Amino acid sequence: MTITSPQTEPAQLCDPDAQTILERVFGYATFRTGQQAVIDKIIDGQDTLVLLPTGGGKSLCYQIPAMVRPGTGIVVSPLISLMQDQVEQLHALGVKAAYLNSSLDHEMQQRIQTALLNNEYDLLYVSPERLLQPYFQNLLQQLEVSLFAVDEAHCVSHWGHDFRMDYRLLGRLKNRYPDIPVVGLTATADAATQADILVQLNLKSPFVFKGSFDRPNIRYRVMSKYKGFEQVLEYVKQQDGNSGIIYCNSRAKVDDLYAKLHRAGISSAAYHAGMDADEREYVQRRFLNDQVDIVVATVAFGMGINKSNVRFVVHHDVPRSIESYYQETGRAGRDGLDAEALLLFDEKDAARVKQWIEQGDKPERNQVEIQKFAAMEAFAEAQTCRRQVLLNYFSQFSDEACGNCDICLDPPKLIDGLVISQKVLSCILRLEQQAATQYVIDVLKGKQLRRINENGHQDLSVYGIGKDESDSYWHNIMNQLIHQGLVRVDLTAGAALRLTEAARPVLKGDVAVKLAVPRLTFKADKKSKNTPAIYDKALFKRLKHLRKSLAQDHGVPPYVIFSDATLADMAAKTPTTRNDMLDVSGVGRTKMERYGQAFLQLILDYLDSAVNNA
Ligand code: ADP
Ligand code: ZN
Repeated sequence: MTITSPQTEPAQLCDPDAQTILERVFGYATFRTGQQAVIDKIIDGQDTLVLLPTGGGKSLCYQIPAMVRPGTGIVVSPLISLMQDQVEQLHALGVKAAYLNSSLDHEMQQRIQTALLNNEYDLLYVSPERLLQPYFQNLLQQLEVSLFAVDEAHCVSHWGHDFRMDYRLLGRLKNRYPDIPVVGLTATADAATQADILVQLNLKSPFVFKGSFDRPNIRYRVMSKYKGFEQVLEYVKQQDGNSGIIYCNSRAKVDDLYAKLHRAGISSAAYHAGMDADEREYVQRRFLNDQVDIVVATVAFGMGINKSNVRFVVHHDVPRSIESYYQETGRAGRDGLDAEALLLFDEKDAARVKQWIEQGDKPERNQVEIQKFAAMEAFAEAQTCRRQVLLNYFSQFSDEACGNCDICLDPPKLIDGLVISQKVLSCILRLEQQAATQYVIDVLKGKQLRRINENGHQDLSVYGIGKDESDSYWHNIMNQLIHQGLVRVDLTAGAALRLTEAARPVLKGDVAVKLAVPRLTFKADKKSKNTPAIYDKALFKRLKHLRKSLAQDHGVPPYVIFSDATLADMAAKTPTTRNDMLDVSGVGRTKMERYGQAFLQLILDYLDSAVNNA
């Protein structure tokens, strides 16, 4: 392998081993769990399947073997944006890599093919349909291929949640090139999908590495949704310029929430499939380049997003399955630093989702979807560690609470809720089970509203019996009563609240009711162990600033220059020499040559001014 860097003499590595490449090219001291074993097997020529969560470090698993083994590694990737992102990152590391896809003009494609035949690349990214075209197969015959890597390998399986027709024929590779190792990689595959990938890709005695599904740096939080926009606004204000995604379940909601955030002066953009391709591309670019902090989106915004410094993902609406939730929240914290996933949950949203599913036209499918949604609801309503619920769903059982979810950090306090419940239930009853949540709240609170007066409800005995608590408090209590089966939402009657049979003994005071004390505010957060404990926040901000201006000069996204994790390590270690700088995690030789000096200078100036001000 040759490592080149334009400004300086090329740093030659003769027959480097995996560890040397890890240190010198990627700038990391140690492999993560699983990486070493996978890399060794692939270098030995064995077929391999890698199951690691997003951010787990899958790319390295095939990139390093492609650099160690002679020839070019061919990587199959489903999306142009993913190829571009990977190649950009490799170039920043000084690795010779390219992609071939329809975004390139004819001349550029010709140039790349010539370079390819001259064995100039360690890695070439292509789409599956191009890979199988006769002309490309012809080209392959003339090449030395070091390995085939199939990224997003779950796309080959019907059982996966994202089957792609053009992945279907990839099994032919193994037949045509029996001696070249084929590596499948995916972050999302249940047991059936995993087995199917092995069959579809035709892997021979494969080595399978299955990492944990856990993303320990993501803090899971669920809050009762009361006034979605106000809650989102309060939350993003606390995020102070961090990058984040807010998912909504319809285009209309995306447009609405975006407009409100924009009006409130929050740096944001909207993204959904109803926008034209140029507009979407523009939003995505600005997000990758840290030019806009927040994207409000439908799930159409997702797979092509490799941005490593997404610090939070908010679900404004409940997703329909844990798989989707896990995948969407997984876009946070790819760099391994602290990140947060916030779900705003409302029982009425849940009732609506169930209604949609039931109205679906394929009964067999509906059954599956109802079960998937029930699991999602159970997650949202859990009173035990969220991570345990999530991991159990993926059959990764753990009996230890995680310490990094809302339940672990702020355990629900259960209280005797009989009187509180009776207030709500009798209010619903006095309103003849015709009123929806907000109206019930208004009566409980004793609000002076025209509609209440017109109905004469200010004369009810329940009017004002809940005036000491806030609207959001009562909303949360009602959610709990719905969840406990004492109240149900009648969607056929304007979401009127109805009492169930189970409510009767509660009203009579014959049974006990336990309620959790509502958690209504976003508590300031304790930090977890994933971000270096002591690093200089002011310096970190300046480093980010420098990164952004360098990124603009070089025409790449900021995280391609250095990840947030690298900047945090820099702000912790405050290197002042070249060698110290090379000790920072994520600073390899090429990045040192290209950017190291600028960052060193900034740190020296910063330390100087700190001394002068002392
Ligand atoms: P995936 O493809 O599994 O989502 P990536 O390959 O993009 O994950 O890796 C996620 C992040 O972790 C990247 O910033 C990558 O550079 C970093 N990373 C990978 N391996 C290591 C390692 N051994 N030590 C430190 N950081 C690593
Ligand atoms: Zn927990």
